[in-house]
Amino acid sequence: MTEEADGEQSRFRPTAHPLQRIGACALAVLGEASTPAELDPGAFEKAVRHMADDAATAVLVRNTKSERGFWLKASHSFFPNSKMNHPGNVRRTDDDLRDAVRRWRIRPARAAWPPVACVLCGSAAVGFYGKVDVPLAESDLYRNSTPRGHTGMALCWPCVCGFHALPYGCRLTGGQSIALHSWDDRFMARTSSRQVQRNRRLIALGQPDPRRVPAREVVALQELRAHDDRLTAGVDLLVFSNENRGHSLEIQSLEQPLAEWLRRSSRPPRGRGFPALLRAHATTSRPSVVGLARNAFRAPGRIVGASARYLISGLERGVLRDETSALATSCFSFTTEVMRMNQNEIDEIRSVGTQVAAWLAEADSAGALRELNSTLKEPKRMRHWLMRRNLDALLNSKSHSRGPLVTDDQFRLLFDPEVETPGSIASSSSCRWSSGCTSWVSSRPTASGSRRRWPTKCPTTPRTPTT
Ligand SMILES: [Zn+2]
Repeated sequence: MTEEADGEQSRFRPTAHPLQRIGACALAVLGEASTPAELDPGAFEKAVRHMADDAATAVLVRNTKSERGFWLKASHSFFPNSKMNHPGNVRRTDDDLRDAVRRWRIRPARAAWPPVACVLCGSAAVGFYGKVDVPLAESDLYRNSTPRGHTGMALCWPCVCGFHALPYGCRLTGGQSIALHSWDDRFMARTSSRQVQRNRRLIALGQPDPRRVPAREVVALQELRAHDDRLTAGVDLLVFSNENRGHSLEIQSLEQPLAEWLRRSSRPPRGRGFPALLRAHATTSRPSVVGLARNAFRAPGRIVGASARYLISGLERGVLRDETSALATSCFSFTTEVMRMNQNEIDEIRSVGTQVAAWLAEADSAGALRELNSTLKEPKRMRHWLMRRNLDALLNSKSHSRGPLVTDDQFRLLFDPEVETPGSIASSSSCRWSSGCTSWVSSRPTASGSRRRWPTKCPTTPRTPTT
């Protein structure tokens, strides 16, 4: 029984705690295993020793501002009250410091284990752990300092070591740390592997990552672009700090469809549109990659909007950009893969574009193109403009036989049906031209609140209200 309990303390069990899972993946990389579940006791002990060695080396630096002090500085954001960061360390000898840090990283003796289970995985707990070992649990409202008389979370040794390994799996900044979490195990394994390998080099040097982080969301975008396989789950971006002053935990999420779309957007065959997608998000004050990454996490709908504005800005100068087709392909893939639009509806919208383009080509008028262009930012005006063109087309004897430029169903797809348009033309919004033109219902209520019904065969018929 005792041996079994001891063996349990060298094996990971999956848990649902995101920070512990990130740490567990990092520990697996340190132990040269593919996943936490594949860490055998020998590899687990090797990984734990490796972390203790790093901590014992870093504490000897003493000064976080020294040339090799970055790892010590970063540890303040994870274990601020630990033996690594005691204010009296400057006066202690090297041997004392090393011993204190190593004792902190040794599993408690079995006689000291409490008779309770680990709150995360259910194995036998080896002690109660609070802020010294566990960075945050919930939010900045949860201070992670236990109340008087309460010693902390009951944890088993593998779960404690998962938290100790957390810094290896994060993008370290010296302040808030950035980590990615997903229920896609392959994504977690590969992301952790890259991050741990990089952090091991930086920890050995005691120096910060020379790559600047332009925005936290960019870290996620970079990892998505580097991932080779289809994502099977969404991705959470966690930005946190366990420092005594300024605890924080912020979580931003990407749903799986959007995360997968972002991953594929920079890869063949869709990769041709990616440079244009980036350029579409550039501003004078913000790099393009920051704009794209922030829109993805904060307002995904703006990705298509930014792309449309980019293409329109070229049109305004009379320039048809070379990347128009590639960027349009990316935008259409966004509508099917992220917005989950029906392909038939997309075909209808494409059809409207083709019809309007043909009409403009036939009109051969720069003024008409400018008119359409000026309505692009105002759906109501565009709707009004299209309705006018519908009337023009139907009044024209040559084009009347071809039917309307935009059908009623297409209007419904393009515009919110609840949006009312001003003027008399607005009342044609419900005209069934495409299905025989048998009724025409005004969407505008009268002064008394009732709605008028306009029976007619086509818009050219004089209107006579019947109600
Ligand atoms: Zn546990």
